[in-house]
Amino acid sequence: MQIMVLIAASAGGYPRGVTTTELGLPALRASRSAPRDPARPADPGLVDRFGRVATDLRISLTDRCNLRCTYCMPAEGLEWMPRAEQLTDAELVRLITVAVRDLGVRELRFTGGEPLLRRGLDDVIAASAALAPRPDISLTTNGVGLAHRAGALAAAGVNRLNVSLDTVRPDRFAAITRRDRLTDVLEGMAAAREAGLSPVKINTVLLRGVNDDEAVDLLRFAVAHGYELRFIEQMPLDAQHGWERAEMVTAGEILTALGTGFVLTPDRQERGGAPAERWLVDGGPATVGVIASVTRPFCGACDRTRLTADGQVRSCLFARTETDLRALLRGGASDAEIADVWRDAMWGKLAGHGIDEPGFLQPDRPMSAIGG
Ligand code: SAM
Ligand code: SF4
Repeated sequence: MQIMVLIAASAGGYPRGVTTTELGLPALRASRSAPRDPARPADPGLVDRFGRVATDLRISLTDRCNLRCTYCMPAEGLEWMPRAEQLTDAELVRLITVAVRDLGVRELRFTGGEPLLRRGLDDVIAASAALAPRPDISLTTNGVGLAHRAGALAAAGVNRLNVSLDTVRPDRFAAITRRDRLTDVLEGMAAAREAGLSPVKINTVLLRGVNDDEAVDLLRFAVAHGYELRFIEQMPLDAQHGWERAEMVTAGEILTALGTGFVLTPDRQERGGAPAERWLVDGGPATVGVIASVTRPFCGACDRTRLTADGQVRSCLFARTETDLRALLRGGASDAEIADVWRDAMWGKLAGHGIDEPGFLQPDRPMSAIGG
């Protein structure tokens, strides 16, 4: 059996998402000039079969959270990743170094779960900011505790951040997040702006019958405070697997609602790999964005690669396979070997997320464990 697997591996044929070390095999002999799939070009970057190049790395620092947003997690009962399975700070920094130095990654976004809960966060950010070329560093947070952390985050090297805020009404905030922390979040956003983390972007998910009447109020709030608001269509990534397409508030509905309070004109700025379609609000300069992953997918321009807190590479939020870099790290692989396995993982990226295909299956990992 061992021999058969060895033969399959040497022919580039072992199952994706499984490392040689997990199979009890020696570490891969990786080489830039000899990718395992002969069709994969000897490109140092993270290229895929469809000509996309991943330069934006999303890093989940933890699957834990201090809120319980209804569209993300159940009120209780979600099992956390055991600590021993999580990458240590040193392991994480090593993978980030490989990504930036060897794989052409130019943007890092730290997320989770709630990234502010990760103890070594400031040190990981400082180590990332010291890399050459210096990556752009951003953070997606729920904002709880941000008021006390924003200055240190900026000093460590964070350039920008996104704060999630689905409502400006305290009772609704408590109902959606199952915690009464709206004041904390608002103070956190103001502190981020004062610390120069600009622009502060707001991520909002509208839920039918819950806060879908608040689009105009949220945009008024954002414009008044100088924040950049982006609405995100609700995606089938909740831990409870309760997403229903018919319940989702669509980009079309969001734009119609916004049109009752503002004049929106398309923002002509180059969108590139950015997920948000943007509009000028009442002629600008304020803008509003809509991330319509479900109704207007942008997979063709995707430039992302993802790393989970337990060291798995995912080529897509909706991927159903992962590639285990932690096992390689802990099995003594070299940086060059790790880089090549990462390239291979991205070479296998599918053309699209497939939400509209009849056989679509939600990934086993929820958003909170993938990193949103
Ligand atoms: N805890 C941090 C936060 O809330 O910003 C970071 C992680 S959270 C998973 C990242 C983003 O994903 C948040 O803006 C959140 O609103 C969004 N999100 C979570 N579940 C979602 C879902 N099912 N569909 C769309 N967006 C979702
Ligand atoms: Fe926590 Fe963010 Fe999920 Fe809300 S969306 S439960 S803040 S991880």
